[in-house]
Amino acid sequence: MRKVYYIYNPQTQTYDRIYPTIRQRIMGILRRTFIGMGFGVVTFLIFLVIFGTPSEKELRKANSELEAQYNVLSKRLDDALEVLQAVQQRDDNLYRAIFMADPVPTAIRKAGYGGTNRYENLMNMANAELVVNTTQKLDLLYKQLYIQSLSFDNVLDLAKNHEEMLRSVPAIQPVSNKDLRRTASGYGMRIDPIYKTRKFHQGMDFAAPLGTNIYATGNGIVTKTGWQSGYGNTIVIDHGFGYQTVYAHLQDIRVKRGKKVIRGEVIGGVGNTGKSTGSHLHYEVHVKGKPVNPINYYFMDLSLEDYNKMIEFAANNGQVLD
Ligand SMILES: [Zn+2]
Repeated sequence: MRKVYYIYNPQTQTYDRIYPTIRQRIMGILRRTFIGMGFGVVTFLIFLVIFGTPSEKELRKANSELEAQYNVLSKRLDDALEVLQAVQQRDDNLYRAIFMADPVPTAIRKAGYGGTNRYENLMNMANAELVVNTTQKLDLLYKQLYIQSLSFDNVLDLAKNHEEMLRSVPAIQPVSNKDLRRTASGYGMRIDPIYKTRKFHQGMDFAAPLGTNIYATGNGIVTKTGWQSGYGNTIVIDHGFGYQTVYAHLQDIRVKRGKKVIRGEVIGGVGNTGKSTGSHLHYEVHVKGKPVNPINYYFMDLSLEDYNKMIEFAANNGQVLD
């Protein structure tokens, strides 16, 4: 509303109307405009704070939808990792075990991606934790799947060699031992029969009369024959696939070095040579250069019942013959 000003004129004794100058008018218009604009801006800001802009509202909605989808994705990655874990366990405990391959080392299975800055570019994002977490799971899945596929390649190779391996891996007893009564002492800590001290017995003893036939326990090549300190007359057979067998204290050796032998072939006779307290065969199985318990390598020979009986006999501490 426009204000109207009057001024008293003593000469005419009337009130004269005062008209504002152009400048005053412009100032008036500007003042009102600024007040209006100020009021508008304040109102706008108040609405913005309370309700947000329409586009911001949409963004927020889209963002929460994305977040929900990410959470679902993350959950599904958990499920996938769980399935993979079951496959890994089956691989280690069944497939690899069938072919007597070592399980894939945990350090290799669990190995992460190198570099701590790998996810740095994601750290600045909103919801960084969720995004990084999900990306890490995806990387883990990818890496572990890759390692698993390598392991299956390996198992496939083993399967191709399986028949040859079945013929070669030591799988019978080195002497005829139907009632198992020739089982003298097993693998493990035993009292030394001569020095009477506790000592690790890294093979299995079979008590049998002098000259009793000794059999190759798997296909292979004779790699050593002759006298060995402590062991007396000894034969070593290399079966391939990381397996070797040692036959010690023999009375006689009936094969030559370099000869190919098949499972069940007679290679020598039981004796009492070397550090020995009676006629017996000391038999060792080595896997990748390390002695293992031979009791697990009679599986073509022993029923489960016999196997359990043999464990009982082999645990007998008193009858070690060295
Ligand atoms: Zn022994």
